[in-house]
Amino acid sequence: MAIEFRRERLQARFLDPRADFSEKVHSFEVRADPLTQAPGYIYEVRRVSPQKKDLSPVIQESLNGECPFCPQAVDRLTPKFVAELLPQGRIQVGEARLFPNAMPYAPYSAILVLSRQHFVALPDFTREMLTDGLVASRTYLQRVQEYDSRAKYIYIGWNYMPPSGGSQLHPHLQVEAAYFPAPYQKEMLEASRQYRIANGTNFWSDLVIKERELGERFIGNTGSICWMTSFVPRARLLDIQAVFQHRETFLDIPDEEFGYFASGLEKVFRYMSDQNFYSFNLSINSGIAGDGYFWTQARLVPRMTFSRLEISDCSYYDVLQDLHFGNRYPEDTCRELKRYFEG
Ligand SMILES: [Zn+2]
Repeated sequence: MAIEFRRERLQARFLDPRADFSEKVHSFEVRADPLTQAPGYIYEVRRVSPQKKDLSPVIQESLNGECPFCPQAVDRLTPKFVAELLPQGRIQVGEARLFPNAMPYAPYSAILVLSRQHFVALPDFTREMLTDGLVASRTYLQRVQEYDSRAKYIYIGWNYMPPSGGSQLHPHLQVEAAYFPAPYQKEMLEASRQYRIANGTNFWSDLVIKERELGERFIGNTGSICWMTSFVPRARLLDIQAVFQHRETFLDIPDEEFGYFASGLEKVFRYMSDQNFYSFNLSINSGIAGDGYFWTQARLVPRMTFSRLEISDCSYYDVLQDLHFGNRYPEDTCRELKRYFEG
């Protein structure tokens, strides 16, 4: 098995104004992503959780205009699919409703509204609600594949609450089928293909085996879904991956496994809520049927602002250099998360 978790401690020296300008050596860690080899830094700062935020003014503000995703407006204000694609116009599974994105980012771009309720707090998302939404997404994407086989690059995203970039508070996901992969999806697909060529094995299978064996970042299982903290975090305080074992594409995932994934998300959301996180980005990346080197995976990072100045958690490093750093060790957050997955 060729997976390597490469890390090195580096040092920087300066004259410290808090110690009469005597020389101080500060150390931090650089790590290489085991799949893409992209570097990332870990620079631990004070172990503090975000402060609990009163969300009621944000919720109130979001209701000042009419929310197009609320039950009294959704039929009136959201688009319908063209009849050749979906004669019924929209897809409904339980409370979940899926319809075309009025601001499409791909030839097939849909919005999935998860709930009838306008605001759902993190601990209030239910397994049923999340599962129904994923089933609706798969139903749509399967129909797209029949209709236009060129739209084979599937990715799903969730921006929850304003720090994440989400423009509507009402919980909703973006479900995309595109002619080209998203850049990070492309990087993962290509690196997984190269790994297969070099090692003759599937990177994701090897990752699960290795992480489970090491136990440092392996949070646990919900059914067949494996949950881990990422060796090289893409966010300051938390970065979680979930792997759908043996599922090359999102289209292959049965309802039961969406339920397993939803039950893992419930646990993650409870942890995040206890830690005062209230916003996140999530993406689900699908592989291509028949390629044999990728397993569908999801990645979740919280989003936040810091201090009363509302300093963004993304800087030029993230946005313009694709260089990410964490302020907590993934091995520490894994230990905390494990407690939510036990029992
Ligand atoms: Zn609403």
